[in-house]
Amino acid sequence: MLRKGIELDINTKIELNNGVEIPVLGFGTYLLNPGDEALAALDCAFGAGYRHIDTAALYGNEAEVGEAARNSGIPRQELFITTKVWNSDQGYSSTLKAFDRSLANMKMDYVDLYLIHWPLPARRKETWEALLRLYDEKLCRSIGVSNYTIKHLHELLKTSPIVPAVNQVEFSLYLFQKDLLDYCSSNEIIIESYSPLTRGKKFGDRRLLEIAEKYGKTPAQILIRWALQAGTVTLPKSSNPKRIRENADVFSFNILDEDMDIMAQFNEGYRVAWDPSSLD
Ligand code: NDP
Repeated sequence: MLRKGIELDINTKIELNNGVEIPVLGFGTYLLNPGDEALAALDCAFGAGYRHIDTAALYGNEAEVGEAARNSGIPRQELFITTKVWNSDQGYSSTLKAFDRSLANMKMDYVDLYLIHWPLPARRKETWEALLRLYDEKLCRSIGVSNYTIKHLHELLKTSPIVPAVNQVEFSLYLFQKDLLDYCSSNEIIIESYSPLTRGKKFGDRRLLEIAEKYGKTPAQILIRWALQAGTVTLPKSSNPKRIRENADVFSFNILDEDMDIMAQFNEGYRVAWDPSSLD
């Protein structure tokens, strides 16, 4: 489902399968150090127009996300905050407790999206049951999963009364998971692309540099724009003010269809994070 990009802007939201709206660009916070670094980066991100923040219990910066959100003065309902249950907390009652800790860390009374961080073989089913309860109790406006392959999703969809709103996975120009995208799309699950910048590992690719030069943009901007036009919600991370703004400045151009076709050939299954396909 390639998205024609011209109509996108930083405030563009798309509807999840339960009608909740999610901004197409989110601010990633993995490896954003708790304390001043995270607070400054988040403050800069809000200033640059991001309204969607992606954190996780694992990242250790939920407290800063909550604090920066309050300091921003932006009404809570204009923000979209995601957090995730970490592997060591998976299981029914331990997930409920982990969720309470996340809310307490953020000093918030709900999250917009709560995700299972990884499809842990022995625990993911009970963990999902806990998410269903939290959703029922209206403590999360939406629930979803992360690092689920088609196999994991298929298993979940067989029994779950509701379809996860998103599947957050590694997805980039160099890891164009078209089968997963198509599967999710046909089941009304939005793909969120993490590590869309390949953590900078592919910035030197000559073909990417040529496209960047053609559009007068940086490789990072091309990678983010590509992920948006590929139909994903995308989550670039930066701790640097100039790069935070650069990564938000991806709405004044559109990658032409002919270049999207060329770029479809860049896929090489390249990963910077773990491959979840080995998880039974
Ligand atoms: P990204 O692909 O977003 O890359 C981040 C890296 O790129 C950082 O080292 C950053 O450095 C650098 N960078 C950012 N912008 C630029 C730029 N414009 N020019 C040059 N370098 C740049 O990787 P992440 O792995 O962080 O993924 C993004 C987000 O996705 C995470 O932060 C997290 O929220 C989520 N995620 C989720 C996972 C999951 O299992 N669900 C796994 C991994 C990520 P600097 O900070 O110095 O700018």
